[in-house]
Amino acid sequence: MKIAVVGTGYVGLVAGVCFADAGHEVTCIDNNEEKINMLLNNEVPIYEPGLRDVLLRSKSRLKFSTDIKEAIENNDIIFSAVGTPEGADGKPVMDFTENVAKSVCQYANRKKYLVLKSTVPIGTAKNLKTLCEKESKHEVEIVSNPEFLREGVALTDFLKPDRVVVGCSTEKAQALMYEVYEAFLNSKDQMLFMDNASAEMCKYAANSFLATKISFINELALLADEVGADINQVRRGFTSDNRINPSFFQPGLGYGGSCFPKDVKALVKKGEEHDIPMRVVRAVEEANDYQKIILHKRLLNHFGDLKNKTIAVWGLAFKPSTDDVREAPSLKLIEKLVQAGAIVNAYDPVAGPNAQKACAKDFNLVDDAYSVLKNADALVIVTEWNEFKKPDFDKLKQNLKSPIIFDGRNIFDQNKMKDLGFEYYNMGRLALNH
Ligand code: NAD
Repeated sequence: MKIAVVGTGYVGLVAGVCFADAGHEVTCIDNNEEKINMLLNNEVPIYEPGLRDVLLRSKSRLKFSTDIKEAIENNDIIFSAVGTPEGADGKPVMDFTENVAKSVCQYANRKKYLVLKSTVPIGTAKNLKTLCEKESKHEVEIVSNPEFLREGVALTDFLKPDRVVVGCSTEKAQALMYEVYEAFLNSKDQMLFMDNASAEMCKYAANSFLATKISFINELALLADEVGADINQVRRGFTSDNRINPSFFQPGLGYGGSCFPKDVKALVKKGEEHDIPMRVVRAVEEANDYQKIILHKRLLNHFGDLKNKTIAVWGLAFKPSTDDVREAPSLKLIEKLVQAGAIVNAYDPVAGPNAQKACAKDFNLVDDAYSVLKNADALVIVTEWNEFKKPDFDKLKQNLKSPIIFDGRNIFDQNKMKDLGFEYYNMGRLALNH
């Protein structure tokens, strides 16, 4: 099949490359010339494990271009995977998606299928249908196909999806979408057809529910610290119940990334439009904002004053295996620390430059995990990259001014840390007050 994918970001590039890997002929479009030039030179503009290998092996079926007109004229299935970032009012910015729809209307030379892969507010397909009916000479059918991939494991998620959600209103669109995805499915049942609004809502339901799990376990961990319980034992106890799926119950520093924060907000906003206060997800958001700065509070509690204290930070990406720092807890934490007068030296295997661009405060970027510890009053672990999990503890101790670790991701065994002579603070495992 011939497919165009507009937007070559974390979602669009993975989708385009995987479609080509499945045998389709794919044209990837972006209006960012720099990205397209990199791709034309076999360079991948984002960090996503394995992506370059699949790109290289599918190259004969992949085209990269900035020419959206040609892509629309030559392809009947056009995926839109452009950004829908959070706007100043908390609602997703829809300009990029609308521009793609307008281009489809302008350049359509026969019936086109515009497939919305971006996360878009419930009701978008309906609005775009009206827009296309007004602006296009040819029929444009809107298909809603939200994406559930996770950065860092995006290829596995895309090539072996749990399910593919498709919202559309014709059998022809269903058949086409099945053909697009067939290579990735174990059975036809994995393809979930529904109406557009339900498909749009699925994405918000999934992300808001996952965010709820995170805020829930984070609050339990805070309480566990106070009451002398161990969150790992608590989790083991309450998730050994077949009604409760144990995944996604790791306490940490709050969710970040380009999806959960904006999608939770967007669901709240959609609720407000319809007089539904969405109390649960509003509380999830509030708990998350608090969680992102919890280590600042704990450092303050420990040191009394952070002025001229040197704090080493391990990890800047919002999660391991990505260079994405959008809404990363590291940024909020560093801003707070610098505001309080601390000197922040940070290391991340790949996300350093992005974090320096995104952070509202200046901090020092150091290019290895041990140099960053030199003369630091404490180490703060923000992202649980694998390379941090089995460090050389002697070296760690030698480099730090004092052997104090605030572990926001519970990556070490607290008994071992005690034996090694570290003052070790973690999330919900008895260490703080007991
Ligand atoms: P991104 O910012 O990485 O990529 C978007 C790309 O679209 C950019 O390269 C941009 O230059 C391009 N673009 C914007 N307007 C364009 C236009 N008119 N023509 C051509 N190109 C244009 O965004 P992303 O992280 O890939 O997210 C895309 C969408 O997918 C969002 O709605 C997001 O919520 C959703 N999503 C993201 C993830 C994720 O993990 N990143 C997962 C699931 C869903």
